[in-house]
Amino acid sequence: MPKRDTICSISVAKYIEQVESFHGYAAPGLIIGGFMVDLAYRHLPQGVLLDAISETETCLPDALQLLTHCTIGNGWLKVVNLGRFAVTLYDPNTGDGIRVYLNPAKLEKWPEIKTWFFKLIPKKEQDTKRLIKQIKEAGSDICDYEKVKVKLNKVAKKHRTSLGICPRCKESYPVADGDVCLGCQGNAPYLIN
Ligand SMILES: [Zn+2]
Repeated sequence: MPKRDTICSISVAKYIEQVESFHGYAAPGLIIGGFMVDLAYRHLPQGVLLDAISETETCLPDALQLLTHCTIGNGWLKVVNLGRFAVTLYDPNTGDGIRVYLNPAKLEKWPEIKTWFFKLIPKKEQDTKRLIKQIKEAGSDICDYEKVKVKLNKVAKKHRTSLGICPRCKESYPVADGDVCLGCQGNAPYLIN
């Protein structure tokens, strides 16, 4: 496959700039994620509003949020954390979609990417410049794609349930959670003074 210099019709350089401003730095996984989203789009019909799934919490949700209209906040992006480096874009009416995943067998040709992906050496020993260069050269060649049919009930948007006022903290919460909110049930990640 010829080397691609665009990701979803913007230049790779421009995409990397967007990654830096959105994610804080040019994370290798997010650059690969851009090529993955681009590969999915190339095998999907144009002009259909698609929903997205990320199978990992790292990097790929940000690639989807940068390149599609799907965000976690608007509910069109679902993170189904299977721990696999894969994304799916699909038609929310039919469930028909394309899943793109990183194929480890294809990393043999790209030692710097393999070393980084499998964390084979400490981060500070990684040659980042060479890594980014290989990622740009490899593009989506390290990935495969497949047609999938998404189980729509598994990714359905949760509708808001009725809200009440928590008697302890006096904030609103879904009454289905219990007599007091989940925070007051001990699930809040804060130390209490
Ligand atoms: Zn409360």
